[in-house]
Amino acid sequence: MRILVHQCCGPCSFFTFEILLKSQFEITAFFYNPNIHPYTEFLKRLENAKIVNKLFNIKGYFYRFYNIISFLKNLPTSNRCFYCYNIRLKLTAAYAKKNHFDLFTTTLLYSKYQQHDVIKQIAQKYSHMYNIGFHYYDFREGWEKGIERARNNNIYMQKYCGCIFSEQERYIKKIKKNIKLEYV
Ligand code: SF4
Repeated sequence: MRILVHQCCGPCSFFTFEILLKSQFEITAFFYNPNIHPYTEFLKRLENAKIVNKLFNIKGYFYRFYNIISFLKNLPTSNRCFYCYNIRLKLTAAYAKKNHFDLFTTTLLYSKYQQHDVIKQIAQKYSHMYNIGFHYYDFREGWEKGIERARNNNIYMQKYCGCIFSEQERYIKKIKKNIKLEYV
């Protein structure tokens, strides 16, 4: 069976690909993450996703579309991740349908930092909307293995989820401690 795998980054792909290959799927990767901030980070993740695909001998579509402005403009006041998952999974499902894949899934289901049930629910919604199967698997069971593989292969491991907010949240705690008021 041909499966289109939405690919968020390199490290999340290792265990996901391993499991899918074990199940005899014919994998094609689909990198579509238009709100990763800053642009250099976006490129770094894209390049490292490519390296992982090469290691597995997997072909991939790399959508170089970068649209942080549109993301920020259309962002609802609450639940930014819900909106972010929707953008990525909607296009993945539509692309899978258009290109005659049997199924789609996402490496987001590997990360223990993501809202697993929300991703699953959104993917199922687009599965019905586009009439294309969604393959669900809880790839989190391979969290340690995936990290180990990424380290052993010198794959870039990001320090935050991706968008500008997650970048700020990652570093703000450290910075807050030291800066109260600065006049220089
Ligand atoms: S934290 Fe991650 S999933 Fe949530 S909006 Fe930012 S990039 Fe998307």
